[in-house]
Amino acid sequence: MTLAEILRKSASRHKHLCPRQVLGARMGLLAGELLHLDIPRADKRLLIIAETDGCTVDGLIAATGCHVGGRTLRIMDLGKVAATFIDTYTESALRFAPRREIRSLALDYAPGARNRWQAMLQSYQKIPAEDLFNIQSVCLKIPLAEIISRPSAKTECEMCGEEIINGREVFRNGRVVCLSCAGENYYHLETNSRSPLAVH
Ligand SMILES: [Zn+2]
Ligand SMILES: [Zn+2]
Repeated sequence: MTLAEILRKSASRHKHLCPRQVLGARMGLLAGELLHLDIPRADKRLLIIAETDGCTVDGLIAATGCHVGGRTLRIMDLGKVAATFIDTYTESALRFAPRREIRSLALDYAPGARNRWQAMLQSYQKIPAEDLFNIQSVCLKIPLAEIISRPSAKTECEMCGEEIINGREVFRNGRVVCLSCAGENYYHLETNSRSPLAVH
């Protein structure tokens, strides 16, 4: 697919086109090229770890075919328009981040643009990749096998009784527990919490 086709696809998901979708699309296209992987893909060979949610991700999805439901896209929210692309066969991994200068560079590439936003939208499609991104080879700190885990794995938390899939359980005091019960929960229960479905 060409960049224009990817952007059309991304924009239809996103309701309009915006500069960060362009960055996501350019990253995805270039990652496919540098990792020698045909994109968009329908298999699970390419894994993306995106460092933010939002606009960028729609560009990444449109370019690569990776998506959360396919377990080929993860969000590790560091609040950065950056992403790491991993060839899960070879384990080569490339991290892309926009260069600091691209906002000012955008004005040079689109002198006639109506405003800064338009300048970014147009220029990010034209600026050569090497001026747009810093690209680094990286090694994952968590082994790839652990990140992907076993999709068939299934167990039950010995504290809350909820099912845990993909091998995400941990051991605490000799018990198999979910991460929430192990203290890594992102919520706490309201006092006197009861099901909204409970009969009054
Ligand atoms: Zn957007
Ligand atoms: Zn639990």
